[in-house]
Amino acid sequence: MIPASSLIHALLKASLIAIIGLAPTLLQGATDSSFKPSPVPGGVAVIDLGSSNDPRPTVHFGTKRTMVVDQDGRWKALIGLPLTVLPGSKIISVQRAEKSREEMISFQIAPKNYPEQRIKIKETKYVSPDKEQLARISKEAGHIGAQFRIWRDVSDIPLLMDWPVDGRLSSPFGLKRFFNDKPRKPHSGIDIAAPEGTDILMPISGVVTDTGDYYFNGNTVFIDHGQGMISMFCHLSKINVKKGDVLARGQKVGEVGKTGRVTGPHLHWSLSLNQSRVDPMLFLPEHKNAGQTGTDSK
Ligand SMILES: [Zn+2]
Repeated sequence: MIPASSLIHALLKASLIAIIGLAPTLLQGATDSSFKPSPVPGGVAVIDLGSSNDPRPTVHFGTKRTMVVDQDGRWKALIGLPLTVLPGSKIISVQRAEKSREEMISFQIAPKNYPEQRIKIKETKYVSPDKEQLARISKEAGHIGAQFRIWRDVSDIPLLMDWPVDGRLSSPFGLKRFFNDKPRKPHSGIDIAAPEGTDILMPISGVVTDTGDYYFNGNTVFIDHGQGMISMFCHLSKINVKKGDVLARGQKVGEVGKTGRVTGPHLHWSLSLNQSRVDPMLFLPEHKNAGQTGTDSK
């Protein structure tokens, strides 16, 4: 067993290859098969709102409505925390009935330091896009943001999902990223490496809200699981669904590919709650490949 401190030290210093080798055991924190609250930037805070014999309350974090689910007879608010949120005391507003006054409940966000990842990209258009490419990226960012704003009222959403791809966690959530030594946005999803053509399956049920080809994300599918929980699957080689399709858990979405900004075939999966990208690993059981290491892709 390597002490955690030296692991972290190694991660900070290490090359991409070392990160790939260490990340699954260090960051794949799932040890049991249940949803794991994690009140940190990029995590999910869970707040108990009382017995689910009462009507379901409406909850907002800032201006954004949050998911409220029934867990063991209790209403639980799941608050997605963006990677950019500052640790400390935060407030949610809770409305118990239609015309009742809002109640404020405070909760704490703990700090979390994510390791760095340095990636070499051969195609400079993915590192330093030109004016035309930047215009496309900006337009797409607006469209992606709109997908994450979708709200559909669904009463029952399971908090334990299935791995969408039978593969290895090749890049964990939250890494501070440098492409060719240039700082870029942190990794707002997880990467699961698998050969091109591997099936991508629904982790839980949902509705396809859009599909498209994006500059960085390649062939992409957006899925609305309900109550502001949205999945974005990227870099597909093949898309098997279309806008409006209602998909059951386990149904095929498409196939793993390497379209967009990639260094090898993998599925990038972003999971969003109340418009905040959170770590999908919180919702996944420990993977059978959890201890496996490798050196390909990112
Ligand atoms: Zn990724």
